[in-house]
Amino acid sequence: MIYVALLEITDLKKTYGRRKAVDGISFNVDEGEIYGILGPNGAGKSTTLSMICGLITPQGGSIKVGGFDISKDPVKAKRLIGVVPQETALYPMLSAKENLRFFGTINGINASKINEAVSKALMIVGLENRANGRISKFSGGMKRRLNIAAGLIHEPKLLIMDEPTVGIDPQSRNHILNTVKELKKGGMTVIYTSHYVEEVEYLCDRITVMDHGRIISEGTLIELMKKESEFQKLTINCGRVPNECNDIIKQLPFVEEVVSFSDYIDIITSNAEKILPVAFIEIIKRGGSVSEIKIQKPDLESLFLKLTGRTLRNGEV
Ligand code: ADP
Ligand code: MG
Repeated sequence: MIYVALLEITDLKKTYGRRKAVDGISFNVDEGEIYGILGPNGAGKSTTLSMICGLITPQGGSIKVGGFDISKDPVKAKRLIGVVPQETALYPMLSAKENLRFFGTINGINASKINEAVSKALMIVGLENRANGRISKFSGGMKRRLNIAAGLIHEPKLLIMDEPTVGIDPQSRNHILNTVKELKKGGMTVIYTSHYVEEVEYLCDRITVMDHGRIISEGTLIELMKKESEFQKLTINCGRVPNECNDIIKQLPFVEEVVSFSDYIDIITSNAEKILPVAFIEIIKRGGSVSEIKIQKPDLESLFLKLTGRTLRNGEV
């Protein structure tokens, strides 16, 4: 049997006037993974998701969900998808339960199954005690959680979540992050967009870094770091740094830069694991004493800065 990814995107394009909102992107999402799309405001994340859901027609490229082309087989393709849009789309005068009954029904759940589906969806997002509460009385975080329940009530194979934690309280945020992890455990595939580095680091099996409508890097967190962030900073606290240490460590292979301070030494290296024991021995041999070692983990924020010269949060340095 030929292996088919759950979602296959090839050379997808969308232009608004002269602005290339999505500029020829390709990626696959495999069944069972949490796939992150990380990018600042305006990167093209929502436009990409809207095309996957069939809400916007692409100007180029193709989208296949479960092998079905969204333009040729829209009904079959869309049946596999659940959407949690960036803006909550709920009826404020209805209760949580009534909202979910509505979204469940339009997503094809029949009358005999709807009550069970509503209860299950409320349970997943932790709102089972608020089933009869009116949405207009809900906090921003609760609305977001109900929005998620509306997106998953029909148990889609692929759940698409567009920045689900923007502007909500930390408790709801944590709840949402845990919900996504639980959904994965239950076998659901999730696409999760965000401009928060720590969220995609925490959640995602693979990550696409997007900017100006393009994919600038893709892979697991470790792959991204290996591919893009060659150097690590190794800091060794070693009492008074022996004088000649700098020069000796600088000569070692994989060492890019060495800077010593009053009681510690910073080594910029492309291979911290190899350098650490050698540097350690050199320092001890020359009368130093090692009290603490820190290898600074490369992070996505600095990777993004390196790739684009911009920060994720405000789009500017
Ligand atoms: P993100 O979700 O990553 O913040 P969007 O996909 O919303 O990015 O937007 C990508 C680019 O396309 C932005 O420059 C945005 O201004 C533009 N854009 C999005 N939707 C529209 C639209 N309906 N009309 C005109 N421009 C749009
Ligand atoms: Mg968006």
